[in-house]
Amino acid sequence: MNNKITHVVIAGGGTAGWITAALLNKVLGNVISITLVESEQIGTVGVGEASIPPILHLNAALGIDEQQFINATQATIKLGIEFENWREQQHSYMHAFGTLGKDFPFCEFYHFWLKAKQQNQAPDLWDFSVNYQAAKAGKFSHLRNLPNTQLPGLHYAYHFDAGLYAQFLKQLAQQRGVKRIEGKIASVQQCHQSGDIQTLTLEDGSAIAGDLFIDCTGLSALLIEKTLNTGFEDWSHWLPCDSAVAVQCESAGAPLPYTRAIARSVGWQWQIPLQHRVGNGLVYASRFLSDDEAKQQLLANLPGKATTEPRIIRFKTGRRRLQWHKNVVAIGLSSGFLEPLESTSIHLIQTAAIRLIKLFPHKGIKQPLVDSYNQQSKTEIERIRDFIILHYKLTERSDSAFWRQCQQMSIPDSLQKKIALFKHSGKLIREDDELFAEPAWQQVMLGQGLEPDDYHPLVNALSDEQLHGLFVDLKALISHAVEQLPSHSEFLSRMKSK
Ligand code: FAD
Repeated sequence: MNNKITHVVIAGGGTAGWITAALLNKVLGNVISITLVESEQIGTVGVGEASIPPILHLNAALGIDEQQFINATQATIKLGIEFENWREQQHSYMHAFGTLGKDFPFCEFYHFWLKAKQQNQAPDLWDFSVNYQAAKAGKFSHLRNLPNTQLPGLHYAYHFDAGLYAQFLKQLAQQRGVKRIEGKIASVQQCHQSGDIQTLTLEDGSAIAGDLFIDCTGLSALLIEKTLNTGFEDWSHWLPCDSAVAVQCESAGAPLPYTRAIARSVGWQWQIPLQHRVGNGLVYASRFLSDDEAKQQLLANLPGKATTEPRIIRFKTGRRRLQWHKNVVAIGLSSGFLEPLESTSIHLIQTAAIRLIKLFPHKGIKQPLVDSYNQQSKTEIERIRDFIILHYKLTERSDSAFWRQCQQMSIPDSLQKKIALFKHSGKLIREDDELFAEPAWQQVMLGQGLEPDDYHPLVNALSDEQLHGLFVDLKALISHAVEQLPSHSEFLSRMKSK
């Protein structure tokens, strides 16, 4: 193809479709026109309510005001994810966003803590996480730095209502010029020679033509798979959960500023507190638990009265072999699936849309662009996949066949190497611009019970007294900062009344 890409058609109007439409329109709105087709009859997957901190960049790039966003989507603040019963029953730890302690050149704070740990003189690692301390105290305010220091303050993301978020983005994108068409795509027409998609025909017979098509049709993957047969790399041997049951319930008390991920006998349950309700779900492996058992287990463990009927969602974990094939780019659930344990799917939509903008073709779609896009997408999702597998692999639970299988399963080489490096030396290297930074891996490795045999020799530059002094000072700074914060509920009320 040597033709300029002037008309982009987005198939699907879930979170993926509307984020992509809004971003493309914001950046390329002067050079391309965008049409989005969606079907109310089919609807959206209707889950996806927890995010990670880069969502702040997405909102900023779209020019979205935080207060407006929080009020429009009934959002709350998310400071991390608490993992309960993952290592063993009654044990919990948090993947708190942000940093731990204070970084030193070439050597992270974690190594200083490791030395003290080996001497049996270490305080709890999470004493050095301002996010953890604020989360557990139920507090939040914008805090760029700890008062009177250069040390980082709070890193946060949001919990929000997925349906309201999609509405919000839809309105924004349409106001800015994205054309929306309501209708169900009944058939897809391809060029006989190239196989490129030329038009989408709706049930009413109307046809939508385009130069580039973005498949945001969710798990049905209408263009990338059902039309182009791109193929799927199945990861269910590493991540055996293939189902979820989701239900909403009433809030019981003030919303927590963190997500709860509670391991059950098969899989795990999420609790996502919003302003007006709590989103809940159980992610499970249907080989080990029936749908009825899953529903019962979820309903028996809700923090408040259920307000919707439990809904089963099936998925297959893995990735589309190519995220960009011919003139179709798959974004969102059509491009692959990773369970929401670390709330990464919406983030993957954001990075896919940014990647597409960066590689956007000028004079036609050329293979090097496509290859670069596919390579970056593959590396990105594989690194996240490894992080998620880590939670399962390092379990010490042996109370069910499900957890025994997780403990015994083989894991990807890339993860095996990371675990070995950490175990041997305490070191973690962030590779290929991967999403999760060292503190995230450290917290999960340690939380799951993997303790390194060694620490970085630079730590020995500090005497034991200096090390002790460092811990005392840092703990005091963090406690003092957290004491000064308003409660999370007060912060949300202020957002309402501003
Ligand atoms: P969908 O929401 O399914 O949208 C598909 C769109 O395509 C709809 O508009 C539909 O009408 C349209 N469509 C489909 N077929 C046709 C057709 N033939 N004609 C016209 N239109 C069509 N992500 C997170 O980041 N955090 C989370 O906490 C989280 N939790 C999750 C929990 C579960 C159980 C699941 C399954 C996913 C979760 N996700 C989460 C992922 C998140 O929900 C999705 O990434 C996000 O909602 C994007 O979905 P989507 O837009 O790709 O698909």
